[in-house]
Amino acid sequence: MEALFEKAFVEAVKKHSSVKKQVENKVRMIMEHPLGLGEPLKGNWRGFYSCPIKKSFIVIYLYCKACRGKGDDQFVACADCGDRQDETLKFVIFGAHDQAYGI
Ligand SMILES: [Zn+2]
Repeated sequence: MEALFEKAFVEAVKKHSSVKKQVENKVRMIMEHPLGLGEPLKGNWRGFYSCPIKKSFIVIYLYCKACRGKGDDQFVACADCGDRQDETLKFVIFGAHDQAYGI
């Protein structure tokens, strides 16, 4: 499994350094069970998965095997998906639960 981290994700984790350890642990767990831990999102976020951290934070990621599996690749904003292995995780967003979606 290859894990890629978007710049925004890395910077958000830096900002919330109190939960850095929990984020690292969760990332490791997601890498082992990418579909078991994530909840598939809908609407504009179709194809993305979310996973809560300590109730108030959330991680949003893409799993390239899933991007393509359901024919979702036309909807999923996974920029270079075609160049990636199936076993690629992209950690896109980390933030407070109620703000991460930008709603
Ligand atoms: Zn992808």
